Amino acid sequence: MIRRMSETTVHSDPNRTHEPQTSLLPTYLAHRDEPCPSCGYNLRALKTDRCPECNQQLVLRVGLAEPRMAAFITGVVGLAMGLGFSVILAVFIAIDRLTNNYSTGIEWQEFWPMVIGSMVLGVALWCWLHWRGAIRRASAGIRCTLAALCFLASGVTAYVIFAVLSSR
Ligand SMILES: [Zn+2]
Repeated sequence: MIRRMSETTVHSDPNRTHEPQTSLLPTYLAHRDEPCPSCGYNLRALKTDRCPECNQQLVLRVGLAEPRMAAFITGVVGLAMGLGFSVILAVFIAIDRLTNNYSTGIEWQEFWPMVIGSMVLGVALWCWLHWRGAIRRASAGIRCTLAALCFLASGVTAYVIFAVLSSR
């Protein structure tokens, strides 16, 4: 069962208030050598919630032992590769088309796979980043399949671009 913070209402139980995150920080650091995540300064025996060296505010958090980021990052790379390829190629050919030393011979009507590919992969990348929480909660099989589909989408885009440009 998924129980989120919004569902476990703090107000329903007056004895279970959320202490400010900073209140436990000096206790935690009293006898521990912990480096500042920003500058590496040893925060042992810190009395406030700010690093004395870089003045950044610090918080004490619960973290995941295994953040399940592999499939998510793989998907980002897969989509970003195809998106970057389509955009850079389109810009390169457009510049070539607009300048005097027009060497590629590619006409504007042959731009559609690059334009559509960029839009589809751009939207897919936005969705992938937007629903990262749902992706991380999915089962390992679904995560890997989705990550593979990201690479497939980029591969199909690159293939269609080459097919259109080489069939002239
Ligand atoms: Zn610091």
